[in-house]
Amino acid sequence: MIIGILVILGLCFGSFVNALVWRVHQQSLPKAKQPKKVNLSIKKGRSVCVNCHHILSWQDLLPVISWVGLRGKCRYCHKSISWQYPLVEILMAAVFVISYNFWPFKFTGPEAAVFGLWLAVVVNLVALAVYDIKWMLLPNRLVKIAFGFALVLSVITISIRSGEIYVDLAKVLVAMAISGGLFAILFYVSSGKWIGGGDVKLGFVLGLVAATPVNACLMLFIASLLGCLVTLPAVALGSKSMQTKIPFGPFLIIAAFVVYLFGVVVADAYLRLLGLS
Ligand SMILES: [Zn+2]
Repeated sequence: MIIGILVILGLCFGSFVNALVWRVHQQSLPKAKQPKKVNLSIKKGRSVCVNCHHILSWQDLLPVISWVGLRGKCRYCHKSISWQYPLVEILMAAVFVISYNFWPFKFTGPEAAVFGLWLAVVVNLVALAVYDIKWMLLPNRLVKIAFGFALVLSVITISIRSGEIYVDLAKVLVAMAISGGLFAILFYVSSGKWIGGGDVKLGFVLGLVAATPVNACLMLFIASLLGCLVTLPAVALGSKSMQTKIPFGPFLIIAAFVVYLFGVVVADAYLRLLGLS
């Protein structure tokens, strides 16, 4: 029952993320390039086809089902609708279900609020990852919203769980200093060539999510490992060169997700591998 609700919620939020990133991107364009007659407001605007800008009816907006039913084509202009749409919807449903199945904490009382906030953080992070993959940019507006949710998650988590509030606060600040600080140094040393300014800000947000120095280090390690695993084969096969820019945000976001849900397990396994535990 709960899984079913989470799947439906995840699909709907996936659909929301698709609309959100498109709107935020359209709003960032110069006025002359923005579609006329489309209300780009995130709160009030109706969903439209990104090609013909026809307002979509409810039959066109059912996550995954509409895309499959329409065979990936717009009902009005018959142009292809990107597979990004169903993919993000399915991904979000999967992320919701995985979060529930592997939730390392309780669900009772105020802990339920922590779970809800975590899902809100995840929605924002997936939006950032999609935006970064599509446009190689982490827009300030989305980073700020993600920071807001991560801050509330952190404050509530510490206030309900912590026996030693100042110790946990200090841990969070060090975690932020590690991930955000490292990127800030890389950004300034390379004058923004190795890493984008958005990654620096995202580093601070994800440090907040990682919450402890160990988790922050683990997150950076996993993100770099994922980055190498994806990039090196592409370079070896010649489809990318070492100079090709690759968005780093999505790797960081996946790493933060893994660390939040599986941090303890991964850290233990790693220490055992090194013979330290
Ligand atoms: Zn259309």
